[in-house]
Amino acid sequence: MLESAWATIIKTAKGLGLKKNLINQLIEPEMIHEFSFPVRMDDGETKIFKGYRVQHNSVLGPYKGGIRFHLNVTKEEVQALATLMTIKCAVAGLPYGGGKGGVVVDPKTLSETELERLSRAYAAKIAPFIGEDLDVPAPDVNTNPKIIAWMLEEYERILGRKSPATFTGKPLEKGGSLGRTEATGRGGVIVLKALLSRLNSKIKTKNSKLTVAVQGFGNVGYYFAKVASEEGFKIVAVSDSKGGVYVRDGLTPETTLRCKKEKGTVAGCYCKGSICDVRYGRSITNEELLELPVDVLAPAALENVINKKNMEKIKAKIIVEMANGPVTDEAYDYLSKKGTIIIPDVLANSGGVTVSYLEWVQGKQGYWWTEKEVNQKLDEMMIKAIDVIEKKSQTKKIPLRQAAFEVAIERILGKW
Ligand code: NAD
Repeated sequence: MLESAWATIIKTAKGLGLKKNLINQLIEPEMIHEFSFPVRMDDGETKIFKGYRVQHNSVLGPYKGGIRFHLNVTKEEVQALATLMTIKCAVAGLPYGGGKGGVVVDPKTLSETELERLSRAYAAKIAPFIGEDLDVPAPDVNTNPKIIAWMLEEYERILGRKSPATFTGKPLEKGGSLGRTEATGRGGVIVLKALLSRLNSKIKTKNSKLTVAVQGFGNVGYYFAKVASEEGFKIVAVSDSKGGVYVRDGLTPETTLRCKKEKGTVAGCYCKGSICDVRYGRSITNEELLELPVDVLAPAALENVINKKNMEKIKAKIIVEMANGPVTDEAYDYLSKKGTIIIPDVLANSGGVTVSYLEWVQGKQGYWWTEKEVNQKLDEMMIKAIDVIEKKSQTKKIPLRQAAFEVAIERILGKW
């Protein structure tokens, strides 16, 4: 991931005529904090955990990025994600640089009290180098509003005063923002709709409704499917780690989610309207879902799922990269040349960090907006972002990903 992020930055920067030392400055993180810290386990023993906070670039503003709890966390992964946050924040037009944090841990092996002690200990460790105008962390894989609330409490205890804008992704009662939970999925649909209105007649279907397949039915996938369905798209397939469903006439995301909660998986949930019935659809594998002849494919689960092995079988006309890095560089080049429109992750899933920014603004001013106001601002900001990138892509005849990186790098250079 780090190599891929670097390769895209180097390619784009070279294309813009940047000198080597400036390219290095774009790549090298400003600071890498690598540390270990003890946590008391329930049995009285103490375990040592490894943690990171990478602060990649602060030219546009305070570092911004989530904290990940996962066994596979490495310095390189955190660094790559911090680098991509620099690009993503610049693409979204936010006054932020890029950062990311992580702890090497499988949180599923911890009790609730152990998880709380670990979260507080990590927050205490990063406390000296975060702050509302310095570095603003948020949740990421395996971290959530509850964990962020523990971290904020610990941070404020050390600081000796309130500072709600130092963390985003907080629970509502701790100063979180309305609309944050669904923001990433909603943002993806806003960008998709904006792009379709510009492409106009290029994407034609026999039916009036464009068909959509969504891989992953977690936070991002579910809200993408729900909002897209509300906006008149026909969601024909969704999946999770245990398999997927295909419903030719279009499924109802809300009922499908209810069914998933009952069964523990989306597999077998053929739900239309308020009814789930086996006659409505059929089961499909995750591989089949990616290869369906749909108008729009939204990979919203894992990285690298569209790659050398399956790229020739992808039939969707538009791919919305809702996960981080679901299309490999090789597949991106192949599909772009074939004419597939790929909305890059740094733009497609930037709705989450955009509402995090709105949460930060609300926290700093101590004034909270209604959900409608938040959604309206998200809409305006996402449309502004896609406008600039699409225009560059059209003028320079380059894929959207390259245009997005160019816009980001130009914005950073403009403030350097
Ligand atoms: P999540 O944990 O809520 O959901 C992930 C979903 O993917 C689950 O439904 C899971 O079953 C499914 N999944 C796992 N393995 C799979 C497989 N092999 N095949 C198909 N589905 C599989 O996570 P999320 O918050 O929805 O994040 C999804 C992706 O979006 C990640 O790449 C994340 O980094 C990215 N992202 C999330 C946000 C956000 O605000 N949550 C913002 C930007 C990017």
